[in-house]
Amino acid sequence: MSTSAPRIVAVDTYDIRFPTSRELDGSDAMNPDPDYSAAYVLLRTDADDGLAGHGFAFTIGRGNDVQVAAIDLLRPYLLGLDAAALCADPAALSRTLVGDSQLRWLGPEKGVMHMAIGAVLNAVWDLAAKRAGVPLWKLLADAEPEWLLSQVDFRYLTDALTPADALELLRRGKEGAAGREAVLRERGYPAYTTSPGWLGYDDEKLARLAEQAVADGFAQIKLKVGADRADDVRRLRTARAAVGPGIRIAVDANQRWDVPEAVAWTRALAPFDPYWIEEPTSPDDILGHAEVRRRVAPIKVATGEHVQNRVVFKQLLQAGAIDVLQLDAARVGGVNENLAVLLLAAHYGVPVCPHAGGVGLCELVQHLSMFDYVALSGTTEDRMIEYVDHLHQHFITPVVIRDGHYTAPTAPGFCAELRPESIAAHIHPTGAAWAADAKGLTE
Ligand SMILES: [Mg+2]
Repeated sequence: MSTSAPRIVAVDTYDIRFPTSRELDGSDAMNPDPDYSAAYVLLRTDADDGLAGHGFAFTIGRGNDVQVAAIDLLRPYLLGLDAAALCADPAALSRTLVGDSQLRWLGPEKGVMHMAIGAVLNAVWDLAAKRAGVPLWKLLADAEPEWLLSQVDFRYLTDALTPADALELLRRGKEGAAGREAVLRERGYPAYTTSPGWLGYDDEKLARLAEQAVADGFAQIKLKVGADRADDVRRLRTARAAVGPGIRIAVDANQRWDVPEAVAWTRALAPFDPYWIEEPTSPDDILGHAEVRRRVAPIKVATGEHVQNRVVFKQLLQAGAIDVLQLDAARVGGVNENLAVLLLAAHYGVPVCPHAGGVGLCELVQHLSMFDYVALSGTTEDRMIEYVDHLHQHFITPVVIRDGHYTAPTAPGFCAELRPESIAAHIHPTGAAWAADAKGLTE
């Protein structure tokens, strides 16, 4: 047994890429040929328990070079830290990383550096939950409101949400939490599926997968739109015919349009009763989203997967620009900043339907929604986590979907850990999945 307190002794990074563009999985109007990728980080300690913290930023290909380099820049802050102290207060590390005066110039709190910080912080939270022997959602749900409050950076938020407001929300969230935890363990958390709707799929595949989604228990599916209006009308008609009137169909433009085009295109799809239009325009255009929302109602407006930090989420809510908030586990500054986003959403009464898919985003974000249900908003009404059935087999504790619901994870941690053999096979460009390319072969 170690005589001194365990410390962080290694920060290993990996450039992991999956050749998803070969099947057009993940294709949309702005991203026709993504290779789903993870800039992956592993925090090792010298503790006898052998536990390590795993985290990652999701990218879709060549950007992974930059993302891994950004995580590498944070290594000096981590090496030598006391593991117990780090896990007891991830916010202290968050303040240090966000506050690096030279790296901060690249943001602040946005883009590649911020995603790197998010990957590292999520790895810390994975380690913290493993050391506590509980899944992350349970660690958060059982935490004292005052401690959760200490994990949130309220800078730039207090005109909309004060620490006192947040404390009140967290205390109220504790009421009835045990009953909701029992429901969660029994039933799971509602999911919707994007798998039928990738833009690269033909109508036959779309209809077949849409019917399958309903048979599998999903109450909502999502279609990518925005490349060709006539195609979208035909595809939405096909999907509506496949699923019938009782199933929600969301549509997702992935930032394709200017505001007037977003309004016109969404209205053209209205006869097929789309539930929400997602990312109709630039993720930075708060007032643009508000304008689209005013003009396409009652179709809802959703965004968030590219919202870079809590400040933009605050403004989207202040401006009445969104009906549905789609936080992403790996876009902002980790669990700490997503706690702020969940508190903002609860304060404004806007439902959170997280973005997921990619590599491991489903695995991560389920923990945030489950915490929100058990101990913050206290409801799953009009709330669903996105589900995409790709790449889960590469994770040690993959998500488990049952009858259209995410099953509550029971394994300690954040479900972020890739299988060692999957890491080895997908390291770019030397892993087996990529070495074939070099020889002119495909998988
Ligand atoms: Mg989307």
